[in-house]
Amino acid sequence: MRAIRGATTVREDSPQEIREAVAELLKEIAARNASVQESCISILLSNTADIRSLYPAKAAREAGFSGCALFSAQEPSIDGALPLCIRVLVLAEGDAPVRHVYLRGAANLRKDLSRYSIALDGPSGSGKSTVAKRLARELDILYLDTGAMYRACACKASEAGVDLSDESAVEAMLASLDLRIEYRGGAQHTILDGRDVSEEIRRPEVSMAASKISALGCVRKKMVEMQRKIASEQSCVLDGRDIGTAVLPDAPFKFFVTASVPVRARRRYDELRAKGYTVDYDALEKEIEERDRNDASRAISPLRRAEDAVLVDTSDMSIDEVVAFIRRRIQEKV
Ligand code: C5P
Repeated sequence: MRAIRGATTVREDSPQEIREAVAELLKEIAARNASVQESCISILLSNTADIRSLYPAKAAREAGFSGCALFSAQEPSIDGALPLCIRVLVLAEGDAPVRHVYLRGAANLRKDLSRYSIALDGPSGSGKSTVAKRLARELDILYLDTGAMYRACACKASEAGVDLSDESAVEAMLASLDLRIEYRGGAQHTILDGRDVSEEIRRPEVSMAASKISALGCVRKKMVEMQRKIASEQSCVLDGRDIGTAVLPDAPFKFFVTASVPVRARRRYDELRAKGYTVDYDALEKEIEERDRNDASRAISPLRRAEDAVLVDTSDMSIDEVVAFIRRRIQEKV
């Protein structure tokens, strides 16, 4: 028997809000925990006293959980409790690992119970950052673009006139590096020395410099420490080159996302053109090949698929298909 816990919140005490929030919570519990829908034997729900317009148990039955014992109760009013909150305890058969689910405002309640990481590695243009953003939004967890961190290091080095082939000069520069990752409205902002460089680091010339600087051991050590700290504090999708192999080798979910060079070059071309850059397709294709070579042949944490990572070739897949594929694999594994 497994006891899976979860909680969510509603914006207001209305039957429709309660229906939606309960359905979303139970759907997510079923998605992240093997065979909950078929085997769950009891669902116990509770709600804070400010929820009065619908029994959460009724909402659960309406959401399709009609074969289980359902029960809901009102919690006492406790000062400082999260308002408009619905909690759940799902008792399910089997001994598969348990993944607790805390959504919406309740995600801050028990970060310790529901924390997990998804590692998404692959070469540039494979679509992994778009997929990672979508996954993070759908699963209501954080997205960490680790490439942005190496890009910020490259920007700092170029501003300071540091030669990227001189590791001790780069190491000296790192000592005064003030790099922070912040989130506003769910979007990652990369803050370098107090300045938001999120747009600047996307400049085409930064890509190659990031690839060069990321080969240095002192840079990787510092970035990997920051990445592990962020991932240890909340559930997270991380995209990069070495997440599954070096940053989080124990991540429960690992994917290696790739696509053919022409497909990746075309995607980068369209993306840069849409941002107003003038780009030459052939030069871009060469640059992608060179970056692949750099990333895959460097001595420290080269780009490679972790043995336990699922390979996803996105050459002929839409973003929706990739996201659906990854979500299915996560669901199968839990
Ligand atoms: O993913 P993105 O293209 O923004 O990454 C820029 C560069 O940073 C990559 O070419 C790669 O060399 C480096 N990188 C890395 N490890 C990561 C993420 C990015 O080496 N985890």
